[in-house]
Amino acid sequence: MEKRYCLECGEPLRGRADQKFCSDVCRTAYHNKLHAEKNSVIRHVNSILRKNRNILTKLNTEGKTKITKEKLTREGFNFSYITNIYTTKTGNIYYYCYDQGYMSLNDHMYILVRKQEWIDN
Ligand SMILES: [Zn+2]
Repeated sequence: MEKRYCLECGEPLRGRADQKFCSDVCRTAYHNKLHAEKNSVIRHVNSILRKNRNILTKLNTEGKTKITKEKLTREGFNFSYITNIYTTKTGNIYYYCYDQGYMSLNDHMYILVRKQEWIDN
């Protein structure tokens, strides 16, 4: 018979064929760890999105502000993380971190907007 081991502590298992853990303690510890890992991924992404939104809020003082890509990058803006995308009828694409958005004007320039301007575009 194939030897099986507890997924948590590695002790050999002697019970039913579908047994995965040597004890309830190990089962609970294993699931708590899995859960913690998932939560830490979510926390990590949330913190990037929050930081992005804070940067956009700080820099977008006028409600609609032109800004260099360099300035966003210098603030630590992470272009890989957004919450949603909005494409206007004219084909402009706005990238949003919650209510704060931006659109690329060219390679160096961005325009920052807030969500209520969706109505106008
Ligand atoms: Zn165990």
